[in-house]
Amino acid sequence: MPNEIRELRCGQTRCYLVGGVLLVDTGWAGTLRELFASLKLENVPLTDVRYLIVTHYHPDHMGIAQDLAELGVRLVVLDVQQGFLHSSDAIFAKDPRTRFKPIVEKDALVAPCSESRVFLASLGISGEVLHTPGHSDDSVSVVLDDGTAIVGDLPPLCLVSGYESPVLEASWDDLLAHGVTRALHAHAPEERVESAGIRKTRA
Ligand SMILES: [Zn+2]
Repeated sequence: MPNEIRELRCGQTRCYLVGGVLLVDTGWAGTLRELFASLKLENVPLTDVRYLIVTHYHPDHMGIAQDLAELGVRLVVLDVQQGFLHSSDAIFAKDPRTRFKPIVEKDALVAPCSESRVFLASLGISGEVLHTPGHSDDSVSVVLDDGTAIVGDLPPLCLVSGYESPVLEASWDDLLAHGVTRALHAHAPEERVESAGIRKTRA
């Protein structure tokens, strides 16, 4: 089952393990133990997790990326995310108790979104990574060919019209054009979506 998805918890963030090897998102700094507990519940050894994609570099998504890197989970930075990797460092600097470790960029793998399908295929996962700005400029979504998309903090389609954001609408248009029927959110339950969704809510 190459596209099997397991939901893991890291503090307030729902993270997703795709195909048993690719983790999408982490939690706030200091939530490593919670991730370990969540993996244990799923009977997944950490050594199975080979790569991490962070949907965007807000503190509740990237907080333990470097802890995981030091444990052998390689961070994959999409081209559109370069320049954002340290955007949350100042927040953690105010709270040393989190024991936050800034990302070491030289250890990360930089991959253009345009080549993400080839990368995911190398992990046995059929899908791609799309740039889906709207919540933040560095937001990406992991879109699987079965219609499931891990969208991070992208606002749910059912709420998009309320934002009056052309950028957000364009991201959802792109997701729908890629056949997305199910959205997995980081802080909300999964959402069933349909291609008429945006037009319906805009009308
Ligand atoms: Zn966010």
